[in-house]
Amino acid sequence: MKIAMLARNPNLYSHKRLKEAAEERGHELDILNTTRCTVHIASHRPEVYYNGEPCVGYDAVIPRIGASITNYGLSILRQFEMRGCWPLNESVAIGRSRDKLRSMQILAKYGIGLPLTAYANDPKQAEEIIKAVKGPPVVIKLLEGTQGIGVVLAETMSSAKSVIEAFRGANVNILVQEFIKEAGGTDIRALVVGGKVVAAMKRTGAADDFRSNLHRGGSAQLIKITPEERSTAVRAAKHMGLNVCGVDMLRSNHGPVIMEVNSSPGLEGIENATGKDIAGMIVDYIAKNAKDGKTKTKGK
Ligand code: ADP
Repeated sequence: MKIAMLARNPNLYSHKRLKEAAEERGHELDILNTTRCTVHIASHRPEVYYNGEPCVGYDAVIPRIGASITNYGLSILRQFEMRGCWPLNESVAIGRSRDKLRSMQILAKYGIGLPLTAYANDPKQAEEIIKAVKGPPVVIKLLEGTQGIGVVLAETMSSAKSVIEAFRGANVNILVQEFIKEAGGTDIRALVVGGKVVAAMKRTGAADDFRSNLHRGGSAQLIKITPEERSTAVRAAKHMGLNVCGVDMLRSNHGPVIMEVNSSPGLEGIENATGKDIAGMIVDYIAKNAKDGKTKTKGK
């Protein structure tokens, strides 16, 4: 097989591991810097060019599109899909996962466990939405934040109101959530590949941080998840339409609640915590499923 990976940094652990795993299995994997791909739009001939040359002959494309270039990256991926090239995750599904509010609306529709969450545009409604999520305390988060940046715990009504007012005053979109105190600064990352949880880890935040992101100094450990957590992760992946994703959950008093479904999960933390060859599992999944024209949405 010939696989293209859309990624900016070929030296990232996850990207190196995917290339290695593909080559070990006798496939060819080219890392294409997403920002150097161009799209030529002409009737009947959707093409992607890389460094001026047409990108042809790929059996599959692995999108590893950074949050800062989501829109550009998705338009390139869409173009691959329009040509019939099979994507590991489809552009439409990645687009859903990059918008926290949209993701939560989808998950809620299918009855998947979520923290009480509210969204409002007008800071005058701050008090109403704080009460709607049974706060204070509340967690306030940027709709488009990543790696725990822009996730704030506000413990009193006055601090919660002023944080909401500050964000909205700066025209930033936010979600307000019930604070899951009982999670104790720990979350669970379940890695789903092709509708199955293939690995899971527990992440614990740095001392005094309620956020468990590894990027914020958290640490990871192997964990055995419950059948309910497993089915929550699998259903979340299915309804988001993602073949491969990292599902982040908190253990709340009302069962597992989803924080986020990540369409480009990092492999370093989870491979180290579990000792599993996740990159190999992803490549095996691609080899089994990649077929020309077999995408659900074809980017539409
Ligand atoms: P990001 O996408 O930036 O990682 P998350 O929504 O996943 O943001 O939040 C980062 C971390 O903050 C979570 O992994 C969790 O540890 C903590 N956290 C977020 N929301 C809540 C909440 N409602 N209650 C308790 N902890 C939370």
